[in-house]
Amino acid sequence: MSPNSKTVQLHDKRFKLSIPSDHIQAAISAMASHLKKDIGQEQPLFLGILNGSFRFASDLVSNYEGPCDVTFVKVASYEGTRTTGEVKRLIGLDENVAGRVVVVLEDIVDTGTTVEQILYDLEGRGAKRVIIATLLFKPEAYTRQLTIDHVALQVANEFLVGYGLDYDGLGRNLNDIYTLILENENSMKNIILFGPPGAGKGTQSTFLVNTFGLVHLSTGDIFRSNIKQETDLGKLAKSYMDKGELVPDDVTIQMLESEVLKHPEAKGFIFDGFPRTVAQAEALDAFLERRGTDIFRMLALDVPEEELVSRLVGRGKESGRADDQNEEIIRNRIKVYEQQTSILAQFYQAKGRFVAVDGIGSIEAISSRLEEAMKD
Ligand code: AMP
Repeated sequence: MSPNSKTVQLHDKRFKLSIPSDHIQAAISAMASHLKKDIGQEQPLFLGILNGSFRFASDLVSNYEGPCDVTFVKVASYEGTRTTGEVKRLIGLDENVAGRVVVVLEDIVDTGTTVEQILYDLEGRGAKRVIIATLLFKPEAYTRQLTIDHVALQVANEFLVGYGLDYDGLGRNLNDIYTLILENENSMKNIILFGPPGAGKGTQSTFLVNTFGLVHLSTGDIFRSNIKQETDLGKLAKSYMDKGELVPDDVTIQMLESEVLKHPEAKGFIFDGFPRTVAQAEALDAFLERRGTDIFRMLALDVPEEELVSRLVGRGKESGRADDQNEEIIRNRIKVYEQQTSILAQFYQAKGRFVAVDGIGSIEAISSRLEEAMKD
């Protein structure tokens, strides 16, 4: 797994890894030694600006060698005069800063309005020297003349969370820093591998996983492993599968969604055996949309019924799979597919995502047709 593929969901938005924690820690440790050189023998007062800088302040002070005081304050906005506009003041500052070297610890400086006003406030209280030290600095957003004395990391003008920074209250506890994934930044390739039982979906999934680096999710396989482990879900699923019927939608949808959430690093998924009903397809689309992605393509393997039956009977002899043992159950699964599932071809056709692929021939021949069908 590449570290850059790590993502998190906070409220309605998704974020991807931007600055890993070891990078953050290295930058803070370097900043601490630069600060020591800058400050010399003085005993500084570190002033952490809440809430965002609580982690930065803690790690910076841990790396700072020499006597120092540490305190935390908040910044409050007041309505100023017509010429001063909005005025920002420090609140909760009990220490006497007069005559002292004060190091303001900010989590992020963007336009610079806040740090500039913090500086005025501290100068007004008689600080001997005010040093501004920020974890993150956005040069593209910065509008002030004031020089920021110490910057740990320069960042692009994007929305960041983690390591103290939040999105609507969430994300402060993350050890890495993440950046917002923009709506149109949909790099995931999610495939539905479609077709009746016996069409070769499982076989071709291996090829697609190896070729495109996708995560394969087969609802049939997940049910079968639950049956093996004798879970409650497995017991429930078995009662339907033994008859060649579909497991109820609510159970299947919930299971599928929780499987997707187990792979936050995925570059995309191959959905094999899901969706099988319109309700499942609608649930899948809504779920992917909430995660800022969608179905890239439905690849439909086309195989006539008599070929399916003979393949499944053959597979039943080799694998011992319960629902492949009896021709009546096999035919029922194909009937269920015709009645409830095949309509999904039109569902994705209407969205312009459907591609039919001839499923007759050697495994390699079908794989190369699928590879062709994946092209943009
Ligand atoms: P498969 O391995 O995909 O052929 O699925 C085997 C059996 O698992 C099906 O005949 C159903 O009983 C059950 N199953 C698998 N996927 C689903 C699904 N998406 N919805 C309902 N039942 C499913």
